Amino acid sequence: MNGEYTIDMIIQKILTDDKQYDLSKIISAYEFASKAHEGQKRSSGQPYIIHPLAVSYILLELGMDTDTICAAMLHDVVEDTPVTLQEVKKRFGQDVAMLVDGVTKLNQVPIFSREEQQAENVRKMVLAMSQDIRVIIIKLADRLHNMRTLNYRPGAKQRKTAHETMNIYAPIAHRLGMRGIKEELEDRAFHYLDPFAYSEIEHILEIKKSEREAFITRIKKNIAERFNDREFSKQPQIEGRVKSIYSIYKKMFLHHKSIEEIYDKYAVRIIVSTVGECYNALGLVHDMYRPIPNRFKDYISTPKSNMYQSLHTTVLGKEGIPFEIQIRTWDMHATAEYGIAAHWKYKQGIHTSNDKMEQRLAWVRQVIEAQQTSDDVEEIVRIIKNDLAPEDIVVMTPKGDSISLPIDSTIIDFAYKIHTQIGHKTAGAKVDGKLVPLDYKLHTGEICEILTSNEFGKGPNRSWLNIAKTNEAKSKIRSWFKKECREENIVTGKAELEKEFRHYRMSIPDDELEAFLMDDLKRHNCQTLDDFYASIGYGGVLLSKIIARLKDKYMKTYKTLENNTAEPVIKPARKINSGIILDKIDDCSVKFAQCCNPLPGDEIVGFITRGHGISIHTTSCTNYAAALKRDSPEELARWMDVQWTDNQQTSLQTTIEVTALDRVGLVYDICAILMEARIPIIHSSSRNLKNGNAMFEAKITIAGMDQLKGLFEKLRKVKDVISVERAKI
Ligand code: MN
Repeated sequence: MNGEYTIDMIIQKILTDDKQYDLSKIISAYEFASKAHEGQKRSSGQPYIIHPLAVSYILLELGMDTDTICAAMLHDVVEDTPVTLQEVKKRFGQDVAMLVDGVTKLNQVPIFSREEQQAENVRKMVLAMSQDIRVIIIKLADRLHNMRTLNYRPGAKQRKTAHETMNIYAPIAHRLGMRGIKEELEDRAFHYLDPFAYSEIEHILEIKKSEREAFITRIKKNIAERFNDREFSKQPQIEGRVKSIYSIYKKMFLHHKSIEEIYDKYAVRIIVSTVGECYNALGLVHDMYRPIPNRFKDYISTPKSNMYQSLHTTVLGKEGIPFEIQIRTWDMHATAEYGIAAHWKYKQGIHTSNDKMEQRLAWVRQVIEAQQTSDDVEEIVRIIKNDLAPEDIVVMTPKGDSISLPIDSTIIDFAYKIHTQIGHKTAGAKVDGKLVPLDYKLHTGEICEILTSNEFGKGPNRSWLNIAKTNEAKSKIRSWFKKECREENIVTGKAELEKEFRHYRMSIPDDELEAFLMDDLKRHNCQTLDDFYASIGYGGVLLSKIIARLKDKYMKTYKTLENNTAEPVIKPARKINSGIILDKIDDCSVKFAQCCNPLPGDEIVGFITRGHGISIHTTSCTNYAAALKRDSPEELARWMDVQWTDNQQTSLQTTIEVTALDRVGLVYDICAILMEARIPIIHSSSRNLKNGNAMFEAKITIAGMDQLKGLFEKLRKVKDVISVERAKI
């Protein structure tokens, strides 16, 4: 619904609901908010109060409680009006005030921000979430209404909001099992992120619409007739299901399926009363239609990690069109549609299932725990973004318990998922009876047996951090090292840091070291230098991630004094033997301009600076072009012809851009290739492109075109890499 929301709609909804609400409290929250926001307008031009009303309505549909609805009405007053939290507390009580405060704090957390702030922001976000899960549910409803009205916002804002929604909020909704919210968030975000693909799929669906509807109606009728004379405690509900545009997109474009290959674009859902009836219905359906092999999934006996349960099967219709059937009980249906919110929706009913609520909260707790054991903020952002990947595998223990894990999980992940102590003591594993290495990637249906060692003092190995896929395992491994081996960690960490310093020829006087590292100590919550060494030692601080910044800082702190900031980091000041032949002048320092970063092979020109030697530009450099255009004789006299020598054994800087499908470990793989080729990275960064791809940018030191070509070839072979180029300036 996009239009006008009114308090009357809310009242109507409450009066027709079987749930008990404190209507007068909700109305007074409305009146209070309405007065506070008086005169304020939304970007759409509508009165501001429409927004809290809409958010409240969405939450009412989810079946949330009175305090949540009141907090939704008031969710923007503390942030956007003079009303204080104290006033909210006085009028509406501690609970409502706490929820409003949580949402307000969450709003102040910019998710994608400069790296330095991100640690703090993510901590705040997790903290707000941990206080009360209703905070994040209100936030999801708030985001949903903002997405519904995003067309009124300026273009740049639309993309940023859509990007955030796709990467953070939709995955959270998915993890909390809130299918309806998740799909709408995804579809609406997708609409802004890739309008072209969106309208293309919309169009495909539209032209087949009547055909599809007729097909579904026929199937529904056939199944209903067949079910009629059978034993069901209550007539099963049979409904046609529309697949979301974004989920079709994912199958078509990410899994390279044609629209004909997407079986579940035609889908029918059957809802029955008991688990037994689910299997009965399945039998009947398989008797009516031929099942397609390998397409049957029993999520009733092995629920997905977000607690989803149903039977899925794909069968062939009489017309030869395959379609998907989902079979579930009403209870499972509530969980599938409302997820964690089902806890409130059915609180008073017989369906209350505290276990499910507990299991979902366990995930939130896991995020919080991770933020305590990991000093690496990217890790936490990664859990929220990627640990939520819907593709899960289900592996069995020898006793028949099923364990669900993210795709690509290894023996280590499995062991830690069973029990922390089993993880620590893992010595080996058997999969389907055969011994496998610890980095073996598990698949659905395999039976995995962990072999443990009882040897005294046996614990995890540092290399497991690279093997583990789940954050849960990684944080358990890290906390073991953190606890068990502080002394050893300090020694290893110190040695590793010193090795990096030597590698990049950074020499920092001992008494200045702490001051030099102070920012990093703070960033990683370390009190002392020893804490910092220990963090490096157990893997909480990754040197590969901080070294670029340290190098920058080193250049700024120590090299400016020597007045040669433009020199490549690893080389001492270079003179005429830099691979350049200069006319006449033969003893003069040469530096390479940062505006165009010439590489051997480029056509170049030199500029005589005042007191800093000659700076070399490419002839295509915009600065050179501008100088020619200015046509000042005095300035032109300072430009001179230069050439490369034949012997190009010299090191120069350039920036490369790698575009790839975004995935976990991409940056790591790229860096690994650079390291292997012994190519120093001066600094690097990565960002997400609006089409969902990722762009990794690195300023590197390179010996010449040959080495660069070789590097490009290797990088193009990295999984998911789309293109590798030199950056255009
Ligand atoms: Mn809002």
